[in-house]
Amino acid sequence: MTRMRDEADVVVVGSGPAGWAAADHCARNGLDTILVAPDPARAWTPTYGLWTAQASPLPPGAALVEPTALRASGRLLDRGYAVLDNAAAAAAYAATPVRAMAGRAVAVGGTAVALRTGRLLRCRLVLDARGPLRHPGDRIEQTAYGMVFPQEAAAPLHRPGEAVFMRWDRRRSGWPTFLYAVPLPGGRTLLEETSLARRPGLPLPELKRRLTARLETAGVDPGDRLGAELVRFAMDAPPVEERDGAVPFGVAAGMMHPATGYSVGEALETAPLLAAAVAEALPRGTRAAREAARTQVWSAEARRAHRLRAWGQRTLLRLPPPLVPEFFDAFFALPEHRQDAFLRGRGDPQGTWKAMAAVFGSAPPRLRRAMAAAGLGAVAARPREART
Ligand SMILES: Cc1cc2nc3c(=O)[nH]c(=O)nc-3n(C[C@H](O)[C@H](O)[C@H](O)COP(=O)(O)OP(=O)(O)OC[C@H]3O[C@@H](n4cnc5c(N)ncnc54)[C@H](O)[C@@H]3O)c2cc1C
Repeated sequence: MTRMRDEADVVVVGSGPAGWAAADHCARNGLDTILVAPDPARAWTPTYGLWTAQASPLPPGAALVEPTALRASGRLLDRGYAVLDNAAAAAAYAATPVRAMAGRAVAVGGTAVALRTGRLLRCRLVLDARGPLRHPGDRIEQTAYGMVFPQEAAAPLHRPGEAVFMRWDRRRSGWPTFLYAVPLPGGRTLLEETSLARRPGLPLPELKRRLTARLETAGVDPGDRLGAELVRFAMDAPPVEERDGAVPFGVAAGMMHPATGYSVGEALETAPLLAAAVAEALPRGTRAAREAARTQVWSAEARRAHRLRAWGQRTLLRLPPPLVPEFFDAFFALPEHRQDAFLRGRGDPQGTWKAMAAVFGSAPPRLRRAMAAAGLGAVAARPREART
């Protein structure tokens, strides 16, 4: 067996959606790229949803399940949404020129990665896509409990082929949760009870209980489930621009939308920009490449948009729970371009602010008062982050 060379232009650590996207695009830009992770060829297990407009950087052969319609807060949305076919994505990434290597990093630096086996990988730039950092204490978390059904078994609760981004249980008192429902590859459907953001996350047994009650009310037999999905992740990581000389990317960099918990689509959209900037700068040396990468991951605009999004998250957490569904009713009633700017405008603080101001301006008086009390009132005065 031939041993893989231990030198490359770029080493990417981590084989999640961010790591693979970055490595694929570095290789597409002609950079000799190693991706190292414990099991780099393994298909991801979570159900990953993204806006269809974010999917074009996927490699050829990476398939999506595209719902026939998308609904949220009782409305039919005019936006494309998709679920990644993880098996197809794994096969598509395996066919790229990225040199995938099995290994666990024990030390990650600016130009070298040490593996647990004692092997040392040397390169000119390290991208750290090792996923979430552990932080002590109670975190703001998204939690969800999902069950996977054959499409027909889920039909009493969910129209086959469609996606429901958010269906609130408005009769319920206490912490608000919603149904997230999407078609999966192989004629299956995921039905998931979701707590969007809470400190700490709503416990999974409570979400399971709520989902089971929802299924039983609709006439879906939980006994028909094919499997379960358990979701728990932190949504309050700050931007991280550099760690030990390496440039973090994906959730490792804090690249998660604080108000939705989404990161996959934005990692995909950022990867081509990151890779092109690195390829252009690398002939000038490691420092130039690191700076170019860092600027693509956290541009000044992206940091400002992130602060505004985090403000949106804080507002949500402070709203009286019964008003949370009303908040989303107001959000999804906005014109599509405003929704898009908030949901997808990673480098667009102006658009993010305009969307937030529009929700505030269009909210019914009771909700607007609550939003002002929760801290969003100042958004009407065009905060510093939104100024050019
Ligand atoms: C169940 C679930 C569902 C989610 N659904 C969505 C969704 O629908 N849409 C969305 O946008 N986001 C979703 N998220 C949130 C977030 O986008 C995901 O957590 C996503 O996986 C983050 O991608 P990433 O590549 O940044 O990190 P990760 O996917 O966490 O990947 C980290 C990688 O680093 C590797 N690694 C870790 N330590 C080392 C080491 N020492 N050496 C080498 N490799 C290492 C890991 O093995 C892994 O391959 C979901 C999260 C969960 C948990």
